Amino acid sequence: MEKETVLKIEHMNIVFTQYDRGMHQTELPVIRNLDVEVRRGEVVAVVGSSGSGKSLLAHGVMGVLPYNARMGGDIQYLGEKLTKERIEKLRGKEIVMVPQSISSLNPLMKIGPQIRKGKKDPASQEKLKAIFRRYDLEEKTEELYPFELSGGMNRRVLISTAVMEEPRLVIADEPTPGLDKKTAKRAMEHFRNLADMGAAVLVITHDLELALETVDRIAVFYGGTTIEEARAEDFQREENLRHPYTKALWRAMPRHGFQYIEGSQPYVKNLPKGCIFSPRCSQCQEACRGEIPYREVRGGKVEIR
Ligand code: SF4
Repeated sequence: MEKETVLKIEHMNIVFTQYDRGMHQTELPVIRNLDVEVRRGEVVAVVGSSGSGKSLLAHGVMGVLPYNARMGGDIQYLGEKLTKERIEKLRGKEIVMVPQSISSLNPLMKIGPQIRKGKKDPASQEKLKAIFRRYDLEEKTEELYPFELSGGMNRRVLISTAVMEEPRLVIADEPTPGLDKKTAKRAMEHFRNLADMGAAVLVITHDLELALETVDRIAVFYGGTTIEEARAEDFQREENLRHPYTKALWRAMPRHGFQYIEGSQPYVKNLPKGCIFSPRCSQCQEACRGEIPYREVRGGKVEIR
């Protein structure tokens, strides 16, 4: 039986308005026509290079985009439109974000009250103890400040804060940079564990190899959009993958020989016509300069001619 869809994003667009030196207004389309879906009990990773704007996807869903950003498209949560009013009600409760930076922890507040959000009732105290046990944090952590913990411990505190309200949707924005391989792997396992307990988890990351160890599906982010959505098991063989860029990512993985991908991602202000991968694609033909559909191919979705 197909699992319940918790988050469905269709045709998401995020545009920034900027002013140049002559005070001319310019528009920067950082995310375009992005689709992604996460079901109950599933971990989906949106994988793209660092600094490519993929974190804005998380901020867009959470309704916390910067003031000069405008978002379009459709976001559905449990089958209903996720309106501004709805996300304001659900944010931090049913829908939580594990932020990229541990600087989002309050440096002047002890860990316990931060995670309990100030609640002191016995049920909250007990819940915190159980969460600490789950994430291998000693009870005394409650009385410590963030600066007294290691980077890995602070990451576990961020996850603890997110799960205190038993969320149905968890969005993790680059949860592993700066962590050694073992700690990063453990952080990903915590997200797997949340999904196994029934949450839908969306992880935004640059680390394809790490993601493949724990996630169910991968959405490949390139040039501001998702160009392929594939099952994690499709990455076992290059032939299973559909888009030439996804295949190039596969070949660039250390275990497949670290093969360099020629060229660089297009800047959002100067996107090529038609297929955005065309300047780097050895199979590019005239038809690739036209409109490229996003369609189902062999159980995955791909933006391909
Ligand atoms: S649409 Fe054309 S240019 Fe784009 S990936 Fe496919 S073959 Fe290459």
